[in-house]
Parts: sequence; C-alpha cells; structure tokens
Amino acid sequence: MDSSDIQVLLSLQKIDQEISDLEKLINQIPEEIENLKKQKEELIYKFEKIHTDIKKLETLKREKELDIQSYEDRILKIQEALDKVRTNEEYKALLREKAQAEESIMEIEDEILVIMEDIENLQKEEEKLKQILEKEKEEIQKKIKQKEDQLEEIRKKLKKIKEEREQFIKKIKTPLLSKYEMIRKKRGTAVAVVDSDTCTGCYLIIPPKVYSSLVKGEKLLTCPHCGRFLIYQPK
Ligand SMILES: [Zn+2]
Repeated sequence: MDSSDIQVLLSLQKIDQEISDLEKLINQIPEEIENLKKQKEELIYKFEKIHTDIKKLETLKREKELDIQSYEDRILKIQEALDKVRTNEEYKALLREKAQAEESIMEIEDEILVIMEDIENLQKEEEKLKQILEKEKEEIQKKIKQKEDQLEEIRKKLKKIKEEREQFIKKIKTPLLSKYEMIRKKRGTAVAVVDSDTCTGCYLIIPPKVYSSLVKGEKLLTCPHCGRFLIYQPK
C-alpha cells in the first residue's frame, strides 16, 4: 500500500458520505410528509369540530325552549286553578308557584341569549375557517407533492451513486478496501485529515515520527489512536 492510495480512499469516503446523507434524507422525508398530512387532518378536524359544536348548541337551545314551553303550560294551569281556588292559603301558594315559574322562564331566556351569542360567534369562525380551509388544504397538498417528488429524486440519485461506488471500488485492491470498510464500520469514517499534528478523526496528536513520515508521503499511514487512514493536506 503506498501513499497514492489515500486519494482513492478519500474519494471513496466522499462517495460514502454522500450515500449516507441521501439515506438520511430518505428516512427523514416520509416523516415530514406524515406531519404535513397530520396538519391537513387537524385543519379538517378543527372545521368539523366547530360544525358539531354549533349543532350541539342548537340542540341545547331547542331543549331550553321546550323548558320554557312547559313552564308556560304550567302557568296556564295555575291561571285556571286560581279561578277555582277556595282558600286564601291555596291562593297564595298558587301565586308563589306562578312567580317561580315566571322567574325560571326569565332565567332560561337569559341562558338562551348566551347560547345564541355563542352560536353566532362559532358561525363567524366557521365562515372564516371555511374560506382559508380550501386554500390551506391545497397548499399543504402541494407541499406533500413536492416532498414526494423530492423523495423520488433522491432515491434515483442514491441508486446512481451506489452504482458508481460499485464501479469505483473495483479500482481498489481487496485488502485495502476490506481495511477501509472495517474502519468505517467501527468509526463511521475511515479517512482522517491531519490538521497541524492532530488527527481530525479522533482529535489526538500524531506521534512526531508518524507525522514526519506522513509529510514526506512515504507510505500509507494510519492513526495510532483511532486506526483511521491519515491524509496530509498542506494549507
Ligand atoms: Zn485518529
């Protein structure tokens, strides 16, 4: 193995880095697509929720109106009973009951007013959301499409680079390639640039002897600490 091999290994490392970056994107993009879909569903849910809230309030309003109706019926009956009453006690009791019924009606009427106001506010919100819903749904859909296209593009690119790698490694002697693969598997990267006298793979100082040999470019060297192939790049 001589020092010229290092440039080949460095090129291979660049290819591997690109492959790993693309693979990262391939893992990441489906999640981004999922998030966009969720965003769209939430928007639809929000709109539907307002709609059901309005329906619920309308039902409640109808129930309250029925309550008023039954109090009014009761008042009519009290009215009839008042005509037939014989004792003062009975008369007073009926009047009390009538007053209570009237008071209940007023309370319910107030409640209905609040409900009507709530319905009105929700309807306004529903209208506003309706206007933006279609537009936002469309925009999100567009983003999803972009991501899907991007993913497709990256898959193609990755396939191409992997094919290029297959061709590229044919130029590398098997023992050297095996060593490269072994270090890469263990360390993530197999080639490290030496900056001043430090290996940028493990950030430890290279012994002076190794360093001077590296500068001279005598042979292919590895870092005595992390085992990575060393490359000297004078600034
Ligand atoms: Zn090192």
